[in-house]
Amino acid sequence: MGVLGLDATAGRRSIFSEASGGTVQIAGVEVVQAIQNLAHDVRLIAQKRTVVRVYVKPDGLSRNIRVRAEIAVSSTRVGPEKYIVSRNIVSLRSAAHPELEAQRVNSDESLNIELPPQQVGTLYVRVNRIIPVAMGDDVPISNPDNEVEVHFVSAPPFRIRVVGLRYIDKRPNPPRSFAPDALHFDLLRSYLTRAYPISALEWSQIVVPIGSNVEPPFSDGTQNDPLWQTLAARVLLRLQLIRQADVNAGRDPRTHYYGLIADDSDFFRGRATQVAAAPDPTTVAIGPAGRSRFSWDGDGSYADWYGAHEFGHTLGCRHPGHCNQDRDPLSSFPYPNGRISDAAEGCVGFDIGDSDLGLPMRALPHSDNSDFMTYCENQWVSRHTYNQIFDRLHLEDVQFAPAVG
Ligand SMILES: [Zn+2]
Repeated sequence: MGVLGLDATAGRRSIFSEASGGTVQIAGVEVVQAIQNLAHDVRLIAQKRTVVRVYVKPDGLSRNIRVRAEIAVSSTRVGPEKYIVSRNIVSLRSAAHPELEAQRVNSDESLNIELPPQQVGTLYVRVNRIIPVAMGDDVPISNPDNEVEVHFVSAPPFRIRVVGLRYIDKRPNPPRSFAPDALHFDLLRSYLTRAYPISALEWSQIVVPIGSNVEPPFSDGTQNDPLWQTLAARVLLRLQLIRQADVNAGRDPRTHYYGLIADDSDFFRGRATQVAAAPDPTTVAIGPAGRSRFSWDGDGSYADWYGAHEFGHTLGCRHPGHCNQDRDPLSSFPYPNGRISDAAEGCVGFDIGDSDLGLPMRALPHSDNSDFMTYCENQWVSRHTYNQIFDRLHLEDVQFAPAVG
């Protein structure tokens, strides 16, 4: 041994294997959408964007090797397989490769493969190859029987209409008019698509005047803030009337309405007409839109997670009571400190990102991410809220379906 593949019959194998040696163990395969654990306890939703995360454990490598993963997916155990390769690259370290849990909480440390849209049913996923980026043979997989079996279920779409509410601030001379920028609509739309347990978001948007009896200031700054309560009641009523007219004119009665109010003049705190204890898509909500009021959120709009919270109320989600928030006595939120999971459940949040909006794919550890129904920083969805919204949308889908014909 030792001559590096000058003999053509030795092929690629000898060049590579003499250079690196070693094998790789598939330490885990996790099929993720918005939040997941290794047991796949969070249901997977057909037609929702899905990523297979491959975790690896190199063994006996003589140097670091940059690799991609190829997976084989099939809807039956013996059926035809489809091969898909990871877009990203991971370096297999010859020493001190990150442990499984360190890989799970960092999307750059797993080999990530986005699946084509999935139908309802079973999917078998197997890691087929670990492929060096440089020329050379595959790194042998020490556990080729690494198949996982997951199941995709149906979920209805979430139907919403987002109404930008334009107002006039008469305090400057001349008066100024404000409405939410397109960016806030775009980020809200994207966030709900990423974080909600839905097959699709049926979205429409419009901007209308907020009404002549609503103008800044929106708050008197007092504890109970009667000014804000009065104005919020007016705006919510207006939104209910807009919704009712639209439904009378033929819009799907399952459509949820949400009013967006730009924060240029003043911050209009969010509110829903109720926490909908029973399915009720007539429940409407309003909330603020702006760029930089929350320092932890740097994507250019907080209207996204803020809207997810207010829509959550229209779907029956309650305040868990964390980060200067009163706990709703009926809340059954299970995780400490409002986090998206706990160590026992072992879920990691997963934001698939949105390349159109420049949002990267991110893994979100439960140790520092909180449910969007709290008032905490670094918001995402917990399994608890995910399940709650899933169940509610199923009920609404059936109970409020428009009469045929
Ligand atoms: Zn709330």
